[in-house]
Amino acid sequence: MIKFLDLQRLNASFQPELSDAIRRVVDAGWYLRGTETNHFEAEFAEFCQQKYCIGVANGLDALTLVLQAKKTLAGWEDDCEVIVPAMTFVATAQAVVRARLRPVFVDVDEHGLIDPTLLAEAMSPKTRAVIPVHLYGQLADMEAIWQFAEAHNLFVLEDAAQAHGIARAGRSQAIAFSFYPGKNLGALGDGGAVVTSDEELAEIVRTFANYGARRKYIHEYSGCNSRLDEVQAAILRVKLKRLIADNARRTEIAQYYEESISAMGCKDVIATLPHRASVYHIFPILSPHREVLQQRLYKAGIETLIHYPLPLHYQPCLKAFNGGERRFPMAEYIAEAELSLPMSPLLTDDEVKEVVQQIQLSI
Ligand SMILES: *Cc1c(COP(=O)(O)O)cnc(C)c1O
Repeated sequence: MIKFLDLQRLNASFQPELSDAIRRVVDAGWYLRGTETNHFEAEFAEFCQQKYCIGVANGLDALTLVLQAKKTLAGWEDDCEVIVPAMTFVATAQAVVRARLRPVFVDVDEHGLIDPTLLAEAMSPKTRAVIPVHLYGQLADMEAIWQFAEAHNLFVLEDAAQAHGIARAGRSQAIAFSFYPGKNLGALGDGGAVVTSDEELAEIVRTFANYGARRKYIHEYSGCNSRLDEVQAAILRVKLKRLIADNARRTEIAQYYEESISAMGCKDVIATLPHRASVYHIFPILSPHREVLQQRLYKAGIETLIHYPLPLHYQPCLKAFNGGERRFPMAEYIAEAELSLPMSPLLTDDEVKEVVQQIQLSI
């Protein structure tokens, strides 16, 4: 079976450094808010070309904490609106709801990225922020989004949970990352980070994540407990060193997929290479016969996944935020047609060829 993502093989390839890193933490006897976390935060901030990095417990917390921090700093009211793409992992919108703000959905383009030309019609006098998502590892059209945001005084928070290595620098106020094990930079458990160059925002995110305390035992806010632990930080430091090389291997695999699938000339299977840069967290293909194709591939020993079968406006927990029953045709099309091929920097050339051959036999 060629797995969608063989995490055991992936993590074994980082040995013995991973075990050494874990042992280092065990022996140090300091498990939270210590030197590994400090070092990782400095290294990841530099990697992202930003001034500050705050390690947190997961990607959902990273997104939520930024929104809560900005809401407090800017005095946004509870029903202020945040624009999110209709096609993304549900966390993007759940973070908005957790911060007691309202998500407003916008359709995506044919690559699954928020369509900047649709931002204007999603605006209301209550709009305060936009969260572009670098879906599948593709860089969203940030130039257009920044221009729109600057013209309308919107706060820009990038959801880079799928885009380690491509979301960096730029004009966004903050970038949120997840280190869920399957991400391009994955821990051996949960983890996340906020990166920003805004000192005031960084400070308040850190405070919220630490029970609302700037100084020990003085709690200015009712915050939460959201920390990246020392073991995960030590593991991430090992894996960060190989991220650029791993992303390059993903790109090589993606190019092979794209060329071979396009060469099949089958109009029912579309391999869409993004028109923008990508770190290929996921390689999506689109097929109107997605279910049949997935089953045939599974029987042939190829595991695939779907990202994501339900767009946000159809999620039971978010229906209330689409009161007008608006439709988002491209998000709905992707939800019905998307299939994610095996993708990992550890896939061999033979495995990648096998995937392509089985697609050819299945169509
Ligand atoms: C994984 C992911 C998240 C959430 O990250 P967790 O660490 O699982 O909380 C948020 N947004 C997107 C786009 C993701 O892929």
